[in-house]
Amino acid sequence: MALIQQAPAAIKIIAMNCRPGCGACCIAPSISTPTPKMPHGKRAGEPCAHLTPNLACDLFGSPERPAVCGSLQPSAEMCGASREHALIWLERLEQLTRPQA
Ligand code: SF4
Ligand code: SF4
Repeated sequence: MALIQQAPAAIKIIAMNCRPGCGACCIAPSISTPTPKMPHGKRAGEPCAHLTPNLACDLFGSPERPAVCGSLQPSAEMCGASREHALIWLERLEQLTRPQA
C-alpha cells in the first residue's frame, strides 16, 4: 500500500478493458481528423457519427478510423467505474489540452 501511495502518478494508471455500452471517449473529446461521416472532424461533447446504436465504432478495423481513436487506451483513471466518470474526466482533459486562442 505504501509503495502505491509513493509511486509516480503515471505508474498508478491501471490498464483495463473498455466497458461495453460506454462510448464516453467517442463523445467528450474533439477530433480534428476528418472521417467519412464527419468530414470536418468532431467537436468536443458531440457524439461521433460513427458510433453505432450499441455504442460501438463502425470504423473499427478500417484505415479511415482516426489514429487518435486507436491510441486512446482504456485506463482505470480515465474510464473509472461509470460512463459519467469518464465523460467528466475526458471533458476536463479536453479543457486542459485545448489550444489557447
Ligand atoms: S471511456 Fe473507457 S470504458 Fe468508456 S468507451 Fe472509452 S475506453 Fe471504453
Ligand atoms: S471513429 Fe470510432 S472510435 Fe473514433 S470517435 Fe468515432 S466512434 Fe469513436
